[in-house]
Amino acid sequence: TSGQTSGQTALRPDFETAVLAPIRAIVGDRGLITDPDTMKPFMESWRDGWVGRSPAVVLPDSTEALAAVVRICAETRTPIVPQGGNTGLTGASQPHADGSEIVISTNRLNRIREIDIDNDTMTVEAGCILANIQNAARDVGRLFPMSLAAEGSCQIGGNIATNAGGVQVLRYGNMRNLVAGLEVVLPDGRIWDGLRGLRKDNAGYDLKQIFIGSEGTLGIVTAAVLKLSPLPRATATALVAVSAPSDAVDLLTRAKGVAGDRIVTFELIQRACIDVARRHVPDVPDPLRDRYPWYVLVELADQDSGNRLAEMLESILEAGMEAGEVLDGVVAASKAQADSLWRIREGIPEGQKREGVSFKHDVSVPISRVARFLDRTDAALERACPGIRPFSFGHLGDGNIHYNPIQAEDGDPAEWRAKLATVNAIVHDIVVDLGGSISAEHGIGRLRIDEMPRYKSPVELEMMATLKRAFDPHNIMNPGKILHSSGVAP
Ligand code: FAD
Repeated sequence: TSGQTSGQTALRPDFETAVLAPIRAIVGDRGLITDPDTMKPFMESWRDGWVGRSPAVVLPDSTEALAAVVRICAETRTPIVPQGGNTGLTGASQPHADGSEIVISTNRLNRIREIDIDNDTMTVEAGCILANIQNAARDVGRLFPMSLAAEGSCQIGGNIATNAGGVQVLRYGNMRNLVAGLEVVLPDGRIWDGLRGLRKDNAGYDLKQIFIGSEGTLGIVTAAVLKLSPLPRATATALVAVSAPSDAVDLLTRAKGVAGDRIVTFELIQRACIDVARRHVPDVPDPLRDRYPWYVLVELADQDSGNRLAEMLESILEAGMEAGEVLDGVVAASKAQADSLWRIREGIPEGQKREGVSFKHDVSVPISRVARFLDRTDAALERACPGIRPFSFGHLGDGNIHYNPIQAEDGDPAEWRAKLATVNAIVHDIVVDLGGSISAEHGIGRLRIDEMPRYKSPVELEMMATLKRAFDPHNIMNPGKILHSSGVAP
C-alpha cells in the first residue's frame, strides 16, 4: 500500500523562503520539524505499511497559529495533511510519497479548555489524547463514552475527523452523537468558531456534521465541545455461547426488550477468533468448558446497584437459553473476571496480525441482515478461494462486522496477497447488495478510495465533490483522500 502518489506537483522552487520561513516565523523552531529522522513517526502508519514523505511537520500550539500556517499554505497552494495521533487505518493521516505535502500535527493543541458540569459538556483542543479526556471526565464524576483500542494514543481531533465508533456505540452513539460544537480552521485559514454547547440548535445547516467524518479533507478541527454522560455505577459482563449469528441477533432483540439502553456492548465473536487470540496473545481465557461456533460478549451498565444489573443479565440469558438461543455462558462475578472476558475481545486484532495474510473489512449491514451477510459471504469466498478461513467479529449491536478472513493455514502468503482485489469485490458487493456500507468505522482514506465509484452513486459522489470544492477550491486540504478528484487542480 505504500508509495502511492496523488499526482501533486513537486515542491515549488522557492519553498524555503515562501513557505517554510514564514511558517517558522509563526511557530518557532519548537513547532517545526524538518529533520527526516525526527519526522519519521509522522510519515508512517503503525500498521499496513503506509509510508510517505514530507518537507516539514508543523506543530502549532494555538488555533490562531494553526490558522496562520494554513493561510500561508493557502496562499502558496501548499497541500496539507492534518494529523492527530496517527493511529488511523486507511492511509489518510500520512502524506503521499511525492514529498509535496506538509503535515500539520495537533500534538501541541492539547489543553482541556473547560468542563461545564451543569451542561454536561467539556471543551477540549483537538490534540487531547482520548484516554486523557476520559480520565478528566471521570475526575468530575462524568463519563466520556468514546472508547477504542487506540485510546492511549489517538486524539479527539482524529476521532472526530474519522467519526470514530468504538465499543459503546450501541448505547452512546459514535462521534457524531458526542459532539455538541466544533472550532475548525478552514482551508483558506479562516477560523470557524462553532463551539456551542447546545443540545438543540436548528438555526440553519448543522455545519459541524460536515466536518465530522470528513477525514481532514474539509478543514482542521482545532477544538470541540463534547457531550458527557452520567458515570455508570455498575456494570455486568457476560460471555455467551450461541450456535449461529442469527441466534445472537435474536438474543440482542430479547436483551434490548429487557435492558433497553443499559446494553453498552454486544460483540459477536467467531470461535476461530478466540483460538487465534489465545495462540498469540498471553492471558486470553477460554472460560466455557466446551467449544462453540460463536460467542457474544455482552455488557450492561447503569446507575443501579451491581447486583440488580447482574440479575437482569442472568434473567436475559436464562430466557435466551429456554428459547434455544443461548447454549452456555458465564457472567463475570468480579471486575477482574470482567476484565479477563474483555481480554478475549481485545486480543483478537493483536492475534490476527500474527496469523498470516488477512483480508480486513470494516463493514456494516442492517442488524437484521448480519446473519445473511455472513452466510452468503462465507459461501462465496469458499467457492472463489478454497481454504480461506472465516474470521469474523465485531459490534453486532451496530451491525458492524470486522469481516477479516485469513489465508489457508499452509498457503503461500504471496499467492494469497494477490487475491486481495477478488476478495474485496466479493465482500463489498454482498455488503452493498444487502444495503450496507463498505466502511462502518475506519473511513475511506486511501485504502478504499478506488472502490468509491463502484459503491457510491454518481449523485452521491457529485454531492461530495461539490462540498469539497466549496470548502477547498484549491484542493490543498488532505488531497487524494476519500475522493480522487474534486474537479479542481491542486
Ligand atoms: P489520525 O490517524 O492522525 O488521523 C485520522 C484521520 O483524521 C486522517 O484523515 C487525518 O488527516 C484526520 N485528522 C486527524 N486530526 C485531525 C484534525 N484535528 N482535524 C481534521 N482532520 C484530522 N475506529 C473506530 O471507529 N472504532 C474502533 O473501535 C477503532 N478501533 C481501533 C483500534 C485500533 C487498535 C486502532 C489503531 C484504530 C482503531 N480505530 C477505530 C480507528 C480510529 O478511527 C482511529 O484510530 C482514531 O479515531 C484516529 O485518531 P488519530 O488521532 O490517531 O487520527
